[in-house]
Amino acid sequence: MSAIIIDGKNAAKEIRRQIRQEVELLIAEKGVRPGLAVILVGSDPASQVYVDNKEKDCTIVGFHSEVYKLPETTATGELLSLIRRLDDDPAIHGILVQHPLPAHLDESAAFGTIDPKKDVDGFNLINVGLLMTGGKSFVPCTPRAIIWLLKNAGIDIKGKHAVVVGRSNIVGKPTAMMLLNENATVTVCHSKTIDLSSVTSQADILVAAIGRPEFIKGDIIKPGAAVIDVGINRLGDGMIGDVEFSSAVEVAGWITPVPGGVGPMTRAMLLQNTLEAAKQYG
Ligand code: NDP
Repeated sequence: MSAIIIDGKNAAKEIRRQIRQEVELLIAEKGVRPGLAVILVGSDPASQVYVDNKEKDCTIVGFHSEVYKLPETTATGELLSLIRRLDDDPAIHGILVQHPLPAHLDESAAFGTIDPKKDVDGFNLINVGLLMTGGKSFVPCTPRAIIWLLKNAGIDIKGKHAVVVGRSNIVGKPTAMMLLNENATVTVCHSKTIDLSSVTSQADILVAAIGRPEFIKGDIIKPGAAVIDVGINRLGDGMIGDVEFSSAVEVAGWITPVPGGVGPMTRAMLLQNTLEAAKQYG
């Protein structure tokens, strides 16, 4: 058997096309151009690439975009002042603080200072709480991308056993919560899980968000499962996922590639969240 490849790159392109149309309408009908502000502190090379890509995406869909590249030495107070200024800026509908921040900065204070209505990354505790309680909130972009990809591939989530490997606040936990909200039966695994393979091999939907190259091999995947590989592991110029694609593709029913799966859709979901913020509060 060879799995169906879930193409996140093309799906993201189509979403950008739709968003561009909606932006034109929003400007014509309400005079509102969605605006996204991205704050990067320090010079982490991967974060620089992510921020540059976000700026490019904004240009493609016609958003107003502001990028703040702050020095490594920035103090928490300075960062919070900038966020407060953007909270009050009517041209800005979404604010994103690039994660991870340098260790001396208070990340939770930064996320907590973002107006929940502009929190397009979904890390403000109000939005985290709304996700937990099933309320309407901005949800983090990667989990939203995962659910979108599953649904777009025609995979029925309801009643399925979904296993999420990884329990980070930005990927694993919110993904598990969103799958639960979609009526999956959810198991969350982590580095202390005993006999991981016995759990993964029961998963109808398997999400790998571990950060370890090719950690999940085909022999621990249930035949026919939908496998979502979130991992981005940089090796030289290229990148590979947390799933060993060559063996997994022979067993799974569906699989996302790396690159070209969750990554581009995560970027598209940031645009989608910003568009929704502009529509609701612009
Ligand atoms: P974290 O390092 O924050 O979390 C990794 C998780 O994996 C932890 O919960 C950890 O468990 C678990 N883990 C580590 N080793 C094992 C193991 N041997 N067995 C089982 N579980 C294990 O990473 P993130 O959640 O931030 O990111 C995960 C991956 O996704 C990374 O490769 C990252 O680059 C990528 N990523 C991709 C995005 C995209 O857009 N495609 C967006 C964000 C992240 P424990 O809690 O016990 O330590």
